[in-house]
Amino acid sequence: MTASTTDPTPDQVTDPMPGPCTALVACDLDRTLIYSAAALSLTVPDERAPRLLCVEVYQAKPLSYLTEAAAALLAELARHAVFVPATTRTREQYRRVHLPGPPPAYAICANGGHLLVDGESDPDWHARVRRALEAESASLEEVRARMLAGADPDWLLKERVAEDLFAYLVVDRDRLPDGWVKELEEWAEPRGWTVSLQGRKVYAVPRPLTKSAAVAEIVRRTGARDVLAAGDSLLDADLLLAADTAWRPGHGELADLGWTAPHVTALPERGVAAGERVLREMLMHTRGR
Ligand SMILES: [Mg+2]
Repeated sequence: MTASTTDPTPDQVTDPMPGPCTALVACDLDRTLIYSAAALSLTVPDERAPRLLCVEVYQAKPLSYLTEAAAALLAELARHAVFVPATTRTREQYRRVHLPGPPPAYAICANGGHLLVDGESDPDWHARVRRALEAESASLEEVRARMLAGADPDWLLKERVAEDLFAYLVVDRDRLPDGWVKELEEWAEPRGWTVSLQGRKVYAVPRPLTKSAAVAEIVRRTGARDVLAAGDSLLDADLLLAADTAWRPGHGELADLGWTAPHVTALPERGVAAGERVLREMLMHTRGR
């Protein structure tokens, strides 16, 4: 996604950007930037484990972390680029996350369904997304009904609809039958929906609902000329493909599939160490420009 190289228009100059920088960094949150205790994948002996910063509390308990080194890198990166959290989380789930550095001017929630500008959802963007979904994919009701009809209480732990845009199941991975996700995927594909398995969650997301579409809109508004991205799941593939340069961790759905692209670096690190490495690479890239 390379924008024009003409001088910025007056509109672009007044946009909330940190100085004259023109790089935009769009980063997935869960298992790319922040990690639950179960997803840390620390491999070093405890006495050498990195110090962690808790960035999310849920029901009065710590939930998500990054390393303190990653926190410092992120704060630095936000000074050199427009940093955009790009998550499948709902707005409510996103607002629990308190990242180091200044509050992001832009954030992408609900996999692109909500574009937050200074923390508030842009109504024009949301209306545009709704129109695209109506025109291009089967209804949420139909997909949700199919998901539930095929689910078994033996392994189904929870069922949720997110922002009235997409659905997900929380499952017991050990009991989830082999091939169940694949079967749902094959049913959903011709109906314009994507299925993604991330940790304990099976997501069904309408295909036009993408992080990359929302990033393109932020590029249009900011005039950013270099887009960097990172993500770990199938729902991040479009985001990585649309970026100029991208990274993916050594764990997650994309790594399991061996997914890659010429401008995407597959990092060897897994877990919270991958989050730190992604930020280090992004910072080096923005400084080297
Ligand atoms: Mg993720």
